[in-house]
Amino acid sequence: LMQHFLSRLSLSVVLLLASWPSFSAHAAEALWAKYDGDHFIVFLKVPDDAFAKRAHDEAEAALSHILQNLSYTKPKKGWQKSGRAKIYLYESQAAFQTAGGSPSWAAGHANYETKSIASFVTSQSFFDTTLPHEVAHLVLFELTVNFWNVPRWMHEGFALSQEKKMGSRMDPAVKQAAREGKMVPLTMLTIVNPAEQTPGAANVYYAEAKAFVSFLLKKHGGHRFQTLIKKLSEGKEFEDSIERAYKGIYDDMDDLEEKFYAFLNAL
Ligand SMILES: [Zn+2]
Repeated sequence: LMQHFLSRLSLSVVLLLASWPSFSAHAAEALWAKYDGDHFIVFLKVPDDAFAKRAHDEAEAALSHILQNLSYTKPKKGWQKSGRAKIYLYESQAAFQTAGGSPSWAAGHANYETKSIASFVTSQSFFDTTLPHEVAHLVLFELTVNFWNVPRWMHEGFALSQEKKMGSRMDPAVKQAAREGKMVPLTMLTIVNPAEQTPGAANVYYAEAKAFVSFLLKKHGGHRFQTLIKKLSEGKEFEDSIERAYKGIYDDMDDLEEKFYAFLNAL
């Protein structure tokens, strides 16, 4: 969980950043309405067939899109039958908050251990933002194996970069920060704690994380990004992992940073 202090203005940016707390309260899932699909099972606290089907279909679309961005050419292994991800949808934000102990700004959670997502049906941003964001978390969690070795900003940057709309709404903030020389140096992203920053600086931090992941994916594709994640999850330092994954492309971190800033300018 992060940033209780963030103002309503910055709410849009941080709405989905909290993804680690575990929901333990889905225990009575037998009582929930269920919609079975290929890679997802949708559980609704209050039955609504149309909503459940749409949630399933959009989750499938988000998964394909994310896998495509990561250059997967085959269907994801282990996400069928007993390996399907579960999506728990509460009837209201209040019910969602009570079940997960979430702060008022949270719109969704992804839990790696239970391979599940929780949110609520009245959320305005569910289909465009929350759902692709949380599906992206599950995919990346799985890829990182021991996900605590991969910096948190990388997880959030990736999840934000896979949202349909919200992600690109963050770009102006990072462009402005780049113009004003307020960017966090890439090697500092892991060291800086956004919770200790002002709301404005925390927004720039996440916008930068998102923009950097988008830059890597758009410029160099999913294979190299997967290598980067693999190196990080093996416990290698950020600079070392970058060097191995983007071998022959960048002379050093300064060179990478320069090209990243040029990419931002062109957005
Ligand atoms: Zn997140």
